[in-house]
Amino acid sequence: MANISDTSLSANLTHKTMTELFDLHCHSNASDGALSPQALMQRAQQQGVTCLALTDHDTINGLAAAEQQAKALNMRFISGIEISVTWENHCLHVVGLNIDPNNQALQLGITGLQSIRVERAQKIAHKLAQKRIPDVYAAVLDAAGSGMITRSHFADYLLKNGHVSTQQEAFDRYLGQGKAAYVSTTWASLPEAVAWITKAGGVAVLAHPLRYKLSTRWMNRLLTAFKSVGGQGIEVITARCSADEIAVVSKYARNFELLASIGSDFHNPANQWVELGRLQALPPNLTPIWQSFKL
Ligand code: AMP
Ligand code: MN
Ligand code: MN
Ligand code: MN
Repeated sequence: MANISDTSLSANLTHKTMTELFDLHCHSNASDGALSPQALMQRAQQQGVTCLALTDHDTINGLAAAEQQAKALNMRFISGIEISVTWENHCLHVVGLNIDPNNQALQLGITGLQSIRVERAQKIAHKLAQKRIPDVYAAVLDAAGSGMITRSHFADYLLKNGHVSTQQEAFDRYLGQGKAAYVSTTWASLPEAVAWITKAGGVAVLAHPLRYKLSTRWMNRLLTAFKSVGGQGIEVITARCSADEIAVVSKYARNFELLASIGSDFHNPANQWVELGRLQALPPNLTPIWQSFKL
């Protein structure tokens, strides 16, 4: 069931023991999540989460509001981010946890990614126009508001306007790699992303490692590279992961001496399969990443 931890987390907690439920990966409407940072924190509390990290794509803009709401709700909050990375022609996601959002190296780094997102969105819209789906850019810009524009916004548009009948179909026909409106993008390099996170005092975590469909050989290469540039963690538990998947990732965590993280990657309450805090427990022979936090 829950990733309940039964230990006292820090010297400044006077309680001898407390029960924590961690969820260290989720999205607000600062990127492609459906909920405001405030509503996200409220939902997290309703789901029994006691410590939430907000990890929006390439932005820290939701963090201040989430942290304020966490205080009001007496919850723990970890400032986070999910950075888009290009490594050996693969798009990877590196989560930064416990970052200082005021750090200039981090801020400067993600400003570059934000420009890349805008340029890419314009190119995606152009490709869609060539497929007789015009005027999408203005619509997704409006939908994203002050948040990051992501492919999820395009998928929502295509769904709402009847071009596809599911989000998945939007990716399968238009937005996925190699599809009609796919735009190849060079995001941050792996050393850059990890450096921004570590300069901001955070720990870098390889997000959802099995989603990249890498062979064991390539995963070993990736983790070797990740460790060599200062990566410290790996997401062992994600929403809906199987016992076999947990075993596979746990082995990587142990082999590469990586701290184990746990996160739902929650985006939207409409997705009944992924809920905040609905996560399995970490296997006992791993070091939880929250041991590195000063909570
Ligand atoms: P981006 O970072 O702009 O490329 O957008 C990627 C986001 O799109 C991911 O974070 C997911 O939320 C979503 N996404 C990617 N692939 C799929 C898919 N096959 N089906 C539904 N959502 C997806
Ligand atoms: Mn997303
Ligand atoms: Mn991701
Ligand atoms: Mn995510």
